[in-house]
Amino acid sequence: MRPSTIAIDGPAASGKSTIGYHLSRYLAYLYLDTGVLYRAVTWAALDRHIAIEDEAAITELADNLHIDVVPPTEADGRQYTVSVEGRDVTWDIRTPEVDAAVSPVSAYPGVRAALTRRMREIAALGHVVMVGRDIGTVVIPDADMKLYVVASAEERAHRRQLEMQTHGEDVEYDEVLANLQRRDQIDSHRQTAPLKAAPDAIIFDNTDLTVEEMLTRAENLVDGVEC
Ligand code: C5P
Repeated sequence: MRPSTIAIDGPAASGKSTIGYHLSRYLAYLYLDTGVLYRAVTWAALDRHIAIEDEAAITELADNLHIDVVPPTEADGRQYTVSVEGRDVTWDIRTPEVDAAVSPVSAYPGVRAALTRRMREIAALGHVVMVGRDIGTVVIPDADMKLYVVASAEERAHRRQLEMQTHGEDVEYDEVLANLQRRDQIDSHRQTAPLKAAPDAIIFDNTDLTVEEMLTRAENLVDGVEC
């Protein structure tokens, strides 16, 4: 029997959202990239000029912010539309400013509690592919299938740079690599829900796989053809 709840975790730009989105289409399941919730809170804090160090104000923001993640409303390559208080912020949450501030925001326990509550409500519906950093360990530890997706830091930086370039952002490779490593460092060492593989997760290293090979392996895993 195919898994109903699928938890996919891994570091930044490891391919987890590509795998998660593909599986959600393959299985006709709901897809939630949970990083967008942390990004939306971070974007709103920057937009409202709330200091990133102000834990109390950011936690209150996370508790009250109206965030929607719905199927794409524009055909511009997006996998979903994210809105904050009704405003489309799908691309605004991907800027280097948000990238730089999202890991400190995500380290606040109150922010995690507020967003984790929302994720669990969605997971309880079943037939869902949820992607993030702590999905298999904290959000849905009883998920039917857990994947922990990894690739070398250099490969991830190359992929992220390419992705940014296709959106017209010209960034240096070294800068992208340093940013990824800094985020990985904060995400893996924070007190609450650090990035790590659940003991029962399948470790999915795709450093040397093409996108095609990676997606075929993901299909084989959910179909039970491969373990
Ligand atoms: O996956 P993405 O790179 O969009 O996530 C942005 C940030 O959100 C991560 O660097 C991490 O700090 C945070 N995050 C998290 N827990 C999740 C998903 C994302 O802490 N489940």
